[in-house]
Amino acid sequence: MARKGPEIIIVGAGIIGASIAWHLTRSGVHVTILEACEPGGVATPNSFSWINSNYHFAQEYFVLRHHSMGEWRRLSAALPQLPVSLSGSVYLPAKGMDLEEFVARNTAWGYRIEIIDGERVKSLEPNLALETEVAAHAHDEGAVEAQEVAELLTAAAVDEGAELRTGARVDGLAVEDGRVTGVRAGDKTISADEVVIAAGAATPELVREVGYDLPLSTPPGLLAHTKPVSRVLNGLVLAEGLHMRQKANGQILAGSDFQGAELADDPKSGGEELIRRLGSALKNSEPLVLERTTTGYRPTPADGLPVIGRPHGISGLSVAVMHSGVTLCPAVGAMVAEELLTGNRHELLAPFGTERFLNAPPESSRV
Ligand SMILES: Cc1cc2nc3c(=O)[nH]c(=O)nc-3n(C[C@H](O)[C@H](O)[C@H](O)COP(=O)(O)OP(=O)(O)OC[C@H]3O[C@@H](n4cnc5c(N)ncnc54)[C@H](O)[C@@H]3O)c2cc1C
Repeated sequence: MARKGPEIIIVGAGIIGASIAWHLTRSGVHVTILEACEPGGVATPNSFSWINSNYHFAQEYFVLRHHSMGEWRRLSAALPQLPVSLSGSVYLPAKGMDLEEFVARNTAWGYRIEIIDGERVKSLEPNLALETEVAAHAHDEGAVEAQEVAELLTAAAVDEGAELRTGARVDGLAVEDGRVTGVRAGDKTISADEVVIAAGAATPELVREVGYDLPLSTPPGLLAHTKPVSRVLNGLVLAEGLHMRQKANGQILAGSDFQGAELADDPKSGGEELIRRLGSALKNSEPLVLERTTTGYRPTPADGLPVIGRPHGISGLSVAVMHSGVTLCPAVGAMVAEELLTGNRHELLAPFGTERFLNAPPESSRV
């Protein structure tokens, strides 16, 4: 297919870079994906990969996430091979959580979530051993196998004409006359009209040299993966100190908290503890055997919100880094592609620009 428009480099083929690359390539643009390792990501393979929008978020973040939940349906219709399951979540009562208030607030914002009784919990998740009289059911939540999604999106972008270079670590940016003109990789400079940094936790070091100081932390998160068992879970279950889901291959994936680093200090005993909690939470299961634990590092900007856009308005350069990149993958891919191609910024991205962390560098060090 004849290519049109700018030449665009995407740095990183995790779930975010892969989504941006696919959306751009579909529009007929020539994209080069530079990936230090192999497609699939660093945070992405270690993610719980829950698609949701109903933690204790500010409304504008809720709206972006909610929009992206719907966008998962668009993406999986376009690419039916993506492992996406939107089978809903059951929230059991937890300390410090007012279930009624939680459901009322999210319902008022248009979320399909409702209070259910213990009988309904049993019909949704008959193998749950945790007794409850009340719970909440979020109808449209789900999960994906995030590493596979990143790999498949990258492959689909390549099918559409993108160039993929693996083992291609980007060392820095090429800058001319105040504009980013490409990247430096080893002893080569690769030119482009636009460079998108979607390098997860490595993003700050790549944009620092243009004077953009992006404050990012990487809190660890431990997950336990069991050996495959026959199906005992239908959707996601969120309980006190335990969230769990069962993958298509029968493995159960479990973690203990979403923000903190509980159990991550000692993966071995943390994994055993998660298996113990799973054992108390489930019945009718074959023996649950720990296959492995993973510790992932969440790329989390200082205020917890995505950072998407042009640092200092520098031409030729964009960044896209965030926690909850799995939930946000389809929306961010489409919106960043649209912005690069038309210059139009999607209104839902307005609160998530780079200017939040604008520590303007001295003129002399600016590109
Ligand atoms: C334990 C845990 C649980 C999570 N749970 C959820 C959840 O339930 N729901 C949710 O939505 N999100 C969740 N997240 C967050 C989500 O996984 C991340 O936001 C998302 O995976 C980030 O994707 P990414 O593509 O930006 O980064 P990454 O997956 O880290 O990919 C970045 C890519 O850039 C490449 N790269 C880096 N530096 C360079 C360089 N210099 N040159 C070339 N390539 C480079 C890397 O090799 C990598 O492939 C969780 C994360 C963790 C760790």
